[in-house]
Amino acid sequence: MNKTIEKAEEYFLHTYNRYPIVLDHGKGVYLYDDNQKRYLDFAAGIGVFALGYENTTYNNALKQQIDKVIHTSNLFYNKPSADAAEKFAEASGMEKVFFTNSGTEAIEGAIKLARKYYYQKTGSAEGEIIAMNHSFHGRSMGALAVTGQPKYQEAFGPMIPNIKFAEFNNLESVKAEMSENTCAILLETIQGEGGLYPATEEFLEGVEKICKEHDILLMLDEIQCGMGRVGEMFAYQAYGVIPDVIASAKAIGGGIPVGAFAARGKAANVLEPGDHGTTYGFNPLAGAAINVVFDIYKESNLLEHVKEVSEYLEEKLDNLVTEYFCVKERRGKGLMQGLEFDHPVNDYIAKAQELGLIIISAGANVIRFLPPLVIEKEHIDEMIGILECCLTESA
Ligand SMILES: *Cc1c(COP(=O)(O)O)cnc(C)c1O
Repeated sequence: MNKTIEKAEEYFLHTYNRYPIVLDHGKGVYLYDDNQKRYLDFAAGIGVFALGYENTTYNNALKQQIDKVIHTSNLFYNKPSADAAEKFAEASGMEKVFFTNSGTEAIEGAIKLARKYYYQKTGSAEGEIIAMNHSFHGRSMGALAVTGQPKYQEAFGPMIPNIKFAEFNNLESVKAEMSENTCAILLETIQGEGGLYPATEEFLEGVEKICKEHDILLMLDEIQCGMGRVGEMFAYQAYGVIPDVIASAKAIGGGIPVGAFAARGKAANVLEPGDHGTTYGFNPLAGAAINVVFDIYKESNLLEHVKEVSEYLEEKLDNLVTEYFCVKERRGKGLMQGLEFDHPVNDYIAKAQELGLIIISAGANVIRFLPPLVIEKEHIDEMIGILECCLTESA
């Protein structure tokens, strides 16, 4: 057996069943393992590596910041994180930003903001948050409590209280969970792990209306679907809905671990000194990463590119739905797509790895496609070619 795998299996806490591949380096939209085998990457580190690998502009910006200073703490200011906050606010329409180290922490911040909002308004700490079934928001106790998947929660009770669950894309179900204590509605604009379900326009607009009417915060988890993945900087911008609070992460740092939660209007000044904190958040290295990510998006006109190639990807995936009886449906938006099969997809994923393609699943029967945003049509053709080999061989 591979020595690295052996060592990892001996010393890592066994919370993952990993694929038997040791990744060594990347170039463009390809990853290489420790035997120099090449893989076309249609997972991008789960939607993180939007710019692909070995992007010299990105790498140089990080190297420069490393040579200056990596960490300062939040007792002081630093320029990279101030610039990054400005760029994030301008791109998202939010007013105030808090940088975290992960998506989970961004969700934690959003939950605390919602509770404080209710507390300020009523003097009571009984605020309720409505989240969605089949959602995914992370693994810490707060993020887990709003993740509507009992299999993840089961062994870790009790969950934090005053969380209710509604059916995604079902406005009546949201209304049924409302009470006078409801302080926020939290959802992914496009459900990722839950199986690639975009919010319908009626649903998202309906939820926005409810939130306005009842003075409730609309909180959107844009951790996977944001940062250009659907051809807009944030997925809600494709709907014309304006949330009060958003959570971001994954692609925002281009690979450096960083997340953000941000708020506007009545939500912007809810959290005050002492309410929330972080040692690493707002660090200059992450700030430099966010800055260069936004700069590259702009200079390379990346959002337009995503619109163009995602149309092509959709067309190619739709062809598979037509041609293969076992492929039931394509779902998704932009470069966040899923193919649902009438049976588990594990064998296809393993076969694709053999043939030099990395794809991942979203639930047992769904193959998920989250390529780097810099993907070209020729890479889509290459991916479809390999995938078809997998489908015909296993049929
Ligand atoms: C990945 C993800 C998270 C959790 O982010 P981490 O960085 O893994 O903590 C939360 N919500 C969504 C929608 C995600 O895709």
